[in-house]
Amino acid sequence: MTSIRTLLDRAAYMTSVHTTRQLPPDTGIEVAIAGRSNCGKSSLINRICRRRGLARASRTPGRTRQLVFFELDEARRLVDLPGYGFAAVSRDMKRHWEGLIQSYLERRNALAGLVLVMDIRHPLKDMDRQLAEFALVRGLPLHIVLTKADKLGHGKRAECLQKVRRDLGGVATVQVFSALSGLGTDELEAALGAWLGCPAGT
Ligand code: GDP
Repeated sequence: MTSIRTLLDRAAYMTSVHTTRQLPPDTGIEVAIAGRSNCGKSSLINRICRRRGLARASRTPGRTRQLVFFELDEARRLVDLPGYGFAAVSRDMKRHWEGLIQSYLERRNALAGLVLVMDIRHPLKDMDRQLAEFALVRGLPLHIVLTKADKLGHGKRAECLQKVRRDLGGVATVQVFSALSGLGTDELEAALGAWLGCPAGT
């Protein structure tokens, strides 16, 4: 059986989707990755797939407005959900991609779990809570990743982790991560592997 590490190493760009009609066939297994613009989501995807340019990491917040599919093998995919929380877009635009995320999260049968990425220094903003709520209402497993952990010292890092665990630990798994240092990579791989039906390991 393919290990999660091997599977992630095979990640390849598949397609970008602006409307629900463009979604690839709803078969196999998908894991979606969501987070506010600039939270470090692209860097996280690049880190776990060990490919620098796979997901675009950019200094311009909110540049990606579509669902981006990465194929792992013929049956399994990662889905990069559009970054949310960027103010400088029109209200119609905002409504459009919130609708797109919502209908994807509510209706996608292939979806096995949601990874919610947050900057450890700014966790649990309104849209984060809203997305967590969507997942929970649907009974979708939720894994919260507090990234950019290298920006905090050990004490503060542990404090933030405890705070989010107190808040959502009953309904989600929560971990710290750093795309810069690789901290938390094994833990994240294990969570993804469990959802994607792969054993852990190299
Ligand atoms: P996205 O908009 O959520 O995809 O965020 P990006 O991955 O583009 O990251 C936003 C900014 O945060 C970039 O300047 C990254 O270099 C930086 N960044 C992302 N992850 C980390 C991390 O783990 N540690 C540090 N120190 N910076 C990070």
